[in-house]
Amino acid sequence: MPSTKTRIAIVGSGVAGLVVARHVVDKLDSYSLTLFEQTDQIGGTWVYTDETDLDKHGLLIHSSMYKNLRTNIPKEIMALPDFPFQDSDGPSFIHHTAIREYLLSYAKHFNLYPYIKLNTLVKHIEPEATRNGRTLWTLTYEYLETKVETTKTFDAVVLCNGHYTVGRVPHIPGIESFHGRCIHSHQYRIPEVYTGKRVCVLGASWSGTDIAMEISQYADKLYLSHNQLDFDLKMPSNIEQRPGVESIRGNIFTFRDGTTAEVDDFVYCTGYEFTYPFMSPKVEIRTDDDHVEPIYKHLVHMDYTNLFFMGLPAHVIPFPMFHIQSKYILGILENRIKLPSPQQMREEYEIEKKSLLNQGIPLRHINKLKDRQWAYYDEIAAAANVSGFPPVVKKVIDHVLQMRDIDFTTYKNYQYRIIDNENFSVSYCKPC
Ligand SMILES: Cc1cc2nc3c(=O)[nH]c(=O)nc-3n(C[C@H](O)[C@H](O)[C@H](O)COP(=O)(O)OP(=O)(O)OC[C@H]3O[C@@H](n4cnc5c(N)ncnc54)[C@H](O)[C@@H]3O)c2cc1C
Repeated sequence: MPSTKTRIAIVGSGVAGLVVARHVVDKLDSYSLTLFEQTDQIGGTWVYTDETDLDKHGLLIHSSMYKNLRTNIPKEIMALPDFPFQDSDGPSFIHHTAIREYLLSYAKHFNLYPYIKLNTLVKHIEPEATRNGRTLWTLTYEYLETKVETTKTFDAVVLCNGHYTVGRVPHIPGIESFHGRCIHSHQYRIPEVYTGKRVCVLGASWSGTDIAMEISQYADKLYLSHNQLDFDLKMPSNIEQRPGVESIRGNIFTFRDGTTAEVDDFVYCTGYEFTYPFMSPKVEIRTDDDHVEPIYKHLVHMDYTNLFFMGLPAHVIPFPMFHIQSKYILGILENRIKLPSPQQMREEYEIEKKSLLNQGIPLRHINKLKDRQWAYYDEIAAAANVSGFPPVVKKVIDHVLQMRDIDFTTYKNYQYRIIDNENFSVSYCKPC
């Protein structure tokens, strides 16, 4: 007799994939689960490697993690709500290796390993319309060690393939004439290679500022080039801020204000592209302008409501957000959450998009939720009938951002302790 369980495929075993799996595994009476992971380890972004280009199978190195990275969110609020960090003492902004350990413990604790296929690349996903109007998904995947390909059918697919691997590199006139070291932040690993150099870092979002700060400890001079007019962070004295790079001639960089500088090495910190190379063209996903369409609530394909996209919102608190999003997905699959018709979803989305554009938020920033994140969590948590973020989370983040604005070089020295849903304490601890 055919199984009546809903067959779920998850693509990717980073945090997002693990969290979805954890909630599916809770309900194995109703679901069967397969989680596909192309690398030989779980953890996604948090699996550090010295390698920067291709792996032994010729695939792009997935992780953009750099050697000294410490989190930019305190562990007290970064944690998944059902799995606090074991070490409740110590620093709040922890080294990336501690996050990887945490994810390994999470997978072990919730018994996820039996459902994970490592070294297994999802190569193609195709929708198949059935006679009763449902869409099924055929996944073609390759076990990379033997090159054997298999195709299987699933009732729902959750894409958790990560969005920090394919760097966006804007064209700068004259870049071909530059012969110094030139990398994207995806390939950045250690600052020591910049000892004594004049370096230009283009882009001043989280990675740009963090990487600039690291490199400045070794470089002679660092030009942090960006177009954020309201940017006023306290920086080390060898960092000079300049507007965007207008053109390059040899090692002379000309900035948008007409000033120039001699540069030895160049680092693009210009963000990443959303990519779904395995998805059938029938699904018509648009990924231009740094956002993905047509997606409802940053999560569900409007025409295929059994196809889910994790990890789209940026400037959020990803781990606990994934927890709520996973519950929302299960709510949809179990018909507890009734989605509007595709046309209504489109109309709702267009109204929201128009309103954001009217507020001066360009299309490429609509997935950067920032202040909009709190309403988003509340909305999907309410729909999924689960707890949202307690108010203390926003209070901690507000404090972090305030301290970061005051002094970028020291904000990670603060230690946060959650007292209850409303209150936290904070102390300043000089690094030893
Ligand atoms: C440098 C850096 C620093 C960051 N710092 C923080 C921080 O301090 N705090 C924080 O909360 N967040 C941080 N983030 C954001 C971080 O990316 C998210 O927290 C989270 O790790 C994203 O998880 P994910 O599961 O969506 O993707 P990923 O972790 O990227 O995982 C995706 C997985 O999918 C697999 N995969 C991809 N394609 C396929 C395929 N076709 N077949 C099979 N498997 C596939 C990949 O191998 C990978 O294992 C940082 C990101 C970067 C890049």
